[in-house]
Amino acid sequence: MQKIRIGNGYDIHQLTTERRLILGGVEIPHELGLLGHSDADVLTHAIMDAMLGALSLGDIGLYFPPSDPQWKGADSLVLLSKVNQLIQERGWQIGNIDSVVVAERPKLKPHITAMRDRLATVLQVEPEQIGIKATTNEKLGPEGREEGICAYAVALLVQ
Ligand SMILES: [Zn+2]
Repeated sequence: MQKIRIGNGYDIHQLTTERRLILGGVEIPHELGLLGHSDADVLTHAIMDAMLGALSLGDIGLYFPPSDPQWKGADSLVLLSKVNQLIQERGWQIGNIDSVVVAERPKLKPHITAMRDRLATVLQVEPEQIGIKATTNEKLGPEGREEGICAYAVALLVQ
């Protein structure tokens, strides 16, 4: 019988000026970007936590602590590739991933195909295995006030 495991992940980063906005490994033109030790790619971080969570391997803070200078400004796709390697070493592969990005602005829809392609390439799966949805928070809460962008993800791993 095929073994399956499921994990979920969540992340949020603050929006600020003088930072680039990178989501799913894709740079998106916007006057605000996300603040963080790495490139603050909130979507990729939520996906990594979902993958790690599926195997009860902890969270990204354990593997890439903000206190470690080697992860300063890190490309989150490099970190994602390392997480993928961790699950592959344990004999697991991605069945599918689904995710939601909550951002009031900018409109993310035009960038979703590029994000799916980029993430699928790094994870060595088909873009059809990566779901990305974008929604606003209807002007409510920190996302709605454009103080930050958050992302939720689930990952199904198969053996
Ligand atoms: Zn993060």
